[in-house]
Amino acid sequence: MSYANKVSFRVIFLSLIGLLSIPFYFIMGGELIFFLFVRLFAHIIGLFSPIGYHRWLTHNQFEPNIIGKILLSMGIISSGLGSPLHHAIAHKTHHPHYDTNDDPHSPERLGFFKLWLGQYKIKNGTRPPKSFFRNKLGMFLHNYYWKIWWLCNIIIFIIFDLKTMLIFLPLNFTYSWLVNTLINYYGHYDPKTKTFGPRNTSKIFTLITAGEGLHKNHHERQNEVDFSGNGRKDPMINFIQLISKNDPNFST
Ligand SMILES: [Zn+2]
Ligand SMILES: [Zn+2]
Repeated sequence: MSYANKVSFRVIFLSLIGLLSIPFYFIMGGELIFFLFVRLFAHIIGLFSPIGYHRWLTHNQFEPNIIGKILLSMGIISSGLGSPLHHAIAHKTHHPHYDTNDDPHSPERLGFFKLWLGQYKIKNGTRPPKSFFRNKLGMFLHNYYWKIWWLCNIIIFIIFDLKTMLIFLPLNFTYSWLVNTLINYYGHYDPKTKTFGPRNTSKIFTLITAGEGLHKNHHERQNEVDFSGNGRKDPMINFIQLISKNDPNFST
């Protein structure tokens, strides 16, 4: 089975488990208030995920302090999006080749459904980010991603129960993968003008995606940690300043 097909299988399987976890939770007698508490907690941690995958491990735009490393690692594992190295390779290929035949996830060439299935086209000449291989924590998260993910599920199962376990990480995956697909799609497709190219999305979507919605700004200055620009403010930049080590190159 090809790598893309393995990803598609995981996307369908985990998304379905995540979706079914909601009726299962309530059928098994789960309380609404606890459900809302778990999901709120999961969404707050989930906001750290794109900062970890994209700004930290893919572009190496800033170095997090110890608290930052813990929060970003929690975000990366909790999302269920898989190895940050695989993510970085696909994204580093996307930047120089966006909206061309060599773009791994061009919405114009793949369409929404194939993007959602993770049928990314990784051609020869991919550019693994050198900074990633020097990042010990990043390599640890790459090597042990699914083992840690399963361990977290088992811990939640032992502390709580099956219905709680399912509405946490599996449901996180259903949500995070959909949001990730929406970024890749609407970050390069304007439904109003029906044109393709990097664009800044709505304020609400930018908030939900922890700043990733400012995709045009990011393409214009891909090494810059602050996605502000073109009259828009990066909603996460103050948080990133809080969790970053003192860095003279941090220009905000
Ligand atoms: Zn892009
Ligand atoms: Zn990028």
